[in-house]
Amino acid sequence: MVEIEYVKTICPYCGTGCGINFVVKDGKIVGVEPYKRHPVNEGKVCPKGNFGYEFINREDRLTTPLIKDENGEFQEATWDEALDLVANKLKEVSDEDPNKVGFYACARSPNENIYITQKLARAACGTQNVDHCARICHGPTVAGLATTFGSGAMTNGFDSIKEADVIFCIGSNNMEAHPLFGRKIIQAQKNGAKLIVADPRYTPTARLADDYIEFKTGTDVALLNGMMKIILDNDLQDDEFIANRTKGFEEFKEVVMKYDVEKVSEITEASVEEITKAALDYGKADKAAIVYSLGITEHSHGADNVMSCANLAMLTGNIGREGTGVNPLRGQNNVQGACDMGALPSDYVGYQKVADQETTDLFNERYGSNLPAKPGLTLVEMMNAAHAGDLKVLYIHGEDPVLSDADIKHTKEALANLDMLIVQELFMTDTAECADVILPAAGWGEQEGTFTNGERRVQCLHKAQEPPEGTKLDWKIMEEIAVRMNPDFKDQFHYESAEEIFDEIREYAPIMAGMNRERLDTPEALHWPCPSVDDPCQPLMHKDKFAHADGLGIFQSIEHLGPVEEPDEEYPLLLTTTRILFHYHAAMTRRCETLDNEVKTGFIEINTEDAEELGILNNEIVKASSRRGEIEIPARVTDNIKKGIVNIPMHFTECAANMLTNSDSFDPKSKMVELKACAIKVEKIEG
Ligand code: SF4
Repeated sequence: MVEIEYVKTICPYCGTGCGINFVVKDGKIVGVEPYKRHPVNEGKVCPKGNFGYEFINREDRLTTPLIKDENGEFQEATWDEALDLVANKLKEVSDEDPNKVGFYACARSPNENIYITQKLARAACGTQNVDHCARICHGPTVAGLATTFGSGAMTNGFDSIKEADVIFCIGSNNMEAHPLFGRKIIQAQKNGAKLIVADPRYTPTARLADDYIEFKTGTDVALLNGMMKIILDNDLQDDEFIANRTKGFEEFKEVVMKYDVEKVSEITEASVEEITKAALDYGKADKAAIVYSLGITEHSHGADNVMSCANLAMLTGNIGREGTGVNPLRGQNNVQGACDMGALPSDYVGYQKVADQETTDLFNERYGSNLPAKPGLTLVEMMNAAHAGDLKVLYIHGEDPVLSDADIKHTKEALANLDMLIVQELFMTDTAECADVILPAAGWGEQEGTFTNGERRVQCLHKAQEPPEGTKLDWKIMEEIAVRMNPDFKDQFHYESAEEIFDEIREYAPIMAGMNRERLDTPEALHWPCPSVDDPCQPLMHKDKFAHADGLGIFQSIEHLGPVEEPDEEYPLLLTTTRILFHYHAAMTRRCETLDNEVKTGFIEINTEDAEELGILNNEIVKASSRRGEIEIPARVTDNIKKGIVNIPMHFTECAANMLTNSDSFDPKSKMVELKACAIKVEKIEG
């Protein structure tokens, strides 16, 4: 009789965090099935959840450490050779100057691996240069919501949306990017909620909307300020909430009152009627929720966009209650966890601030380190420092910046400029190709640990099969490197299990202190904050007070700025970049046959009128170019995108959107680069 086993885990793609079971036969993962009792997905999954496991047992998994020789060819190496090489280089450079070493943590990996990455950076290398891809997805959420509310996370649990009267969704195509959260919006509509979607593209989410606002990419602040002026003009603000729970209102009001709807309509290219209707519907609702994602954050003024969303919620008292809130949908499966774990140059685990001397003294005591109370370099700054020759060693754990960072040419030049690029990976990604040393790691399904979804729910993963021979667990690789750097680190880096690492996380992060394994390993798991084992945990934040020391939310006075690079005569179209339903980045989903068969390569969406003017036909291969580079890509001619805007999904290396995007234009408040807006031109390829 064939023995089939079911092993509980969490989907490794988006931040919704759906529960699934691995189907295991003869010790090998052969499929998945949705976990019926799971509170997030209730027995359903999207195509990525269904078929996204197919990469696991691919033959092209990396199973031997590789070291590049002087001719630029990878040669197989033993683990001893590779680990010694890495440890010696990290020690040599960090002894000379810890600022010359940097780490990218992996937002796809379990919390325990991420915690050890930042600990390797801080405790073993003495550097605060540790960051991860949240910087270029939800860095503005962390910065913007921390400034306004005192905590940079989603304010409500996912199910809260079902209680909303009005849902204002801006810059989020959740029906493709977070489909099982999208399902909750559909449930909310069935309960009577009105859905308003603002987006430059008529997306699958926009098609579900009761009201759709088509507006110009990068004009979110103007749109939101315009809506808030209408709310104030109609006396729909919540005076009691403003008086008792916030500060900074008068200064904020002074700025907002400059945004007449006619002026806003001119800036955003949305109609006066649509803006007014959305403002009145949101303002009159008893319970109104804001949902946003990368359409808000991936701008050179991403933190301003986020803070404008927070202003709108505070203005109308739509915070701290079910059915309300500011709900950023996090990108990668564990990007929330990567922030929580302190894979940020400004924060230790649990958002304890590096800049606070007492906090840094405490972590120096804990880690036996001598860290400065000064934030390190962000991911974008590390890449720029490498480009300038100021960063010498970069350790990239499971990220693929060559594909995902803005301006691929700049990224490749920066990586080539390093003394050593270390990549810890499952596959030969575009970034791994650039490495000097590759360390092959165990993947999803091959280890224990936890992921934290976008609603701060910390959930357990379980091991379903042995990792391929020749690979090692991520945290064990880093533990071995630390001890090879200095045998005295053996007490700091000596764990028996992922659970033991999580115990240290709980001990050092008060927001997670109450999360013991017994409580976590249940279908509901636990949301942080959960400060003690008696605490029931808090899916709903800011109920009675905000997370600032005085308990008050802070209105921010924000002016519209717009994209850094506007279209001009030479580059007349504004490019935005997106994800699609069947892919999540590339390294994993493009190795899943079923998903790959659905969408095999990229495309550029172009408005029918723009295509006509350029003489471009549907499916024709065109040239798209910007000041950074050019690609050839099939055109998808459609009315579902605003005239003047074009869109390229970011997953496809052969026609990579990030060949065109701009790495020079970053948000001073969050260091986010402007992935969602740059000027390009599209041309027919003659001949
Ligand atoms: Fe996975 Fe997200 Fe799809 Fe759920 S919605 S199955 S977490 S990709």
